[in-house]
Amino acid sequence: MILLLLDKIQETGSNKYIPYLRAWEKIDYKKVRARIREVIRDIESDVSVDQQAAADRADSINEAMKGLEPHDIDLRCIECGNYFTFSVGEQRFYQRMGFVHPRRCPSCREQRDLEFL
Ligand SMILES: [Zn+2]
Repeated sequence: MILLLLDKIQETGSNKYIPYLRAWEKIDYKKVRARIREVIRDIESDVSVDQQAAADRADSINEAMKGLEPHDIDLRCIECGNYFTFSVGEQRFYQRMGFVHPRRCPSCREQRDLEFL
């Protein structure tokens, strides 16, 4: 999938993706693999339980994105319940890459990554 995404980026020939590619380049391969496993585990495990919450969150994000000026959004972590900031830069990144918004705060994400390593 990552390779497919890279193919797509290559097809666009757009240099606006270069910063993201550079950022990706620095990501540890293990981290990517851990993230892929996390996504698979999420899809297999708590899709049905969390669907409504995810839909609600998506709605509130779409609502927030409609504003004239993009701004940071506070999201609630599904793991620890703490609020964390989903910054404008991250929102653009997620949107461009066609990803959904993060469901966990950075520290829980980090924690989950470590568990897989
Ligand atoms: Zn958390």
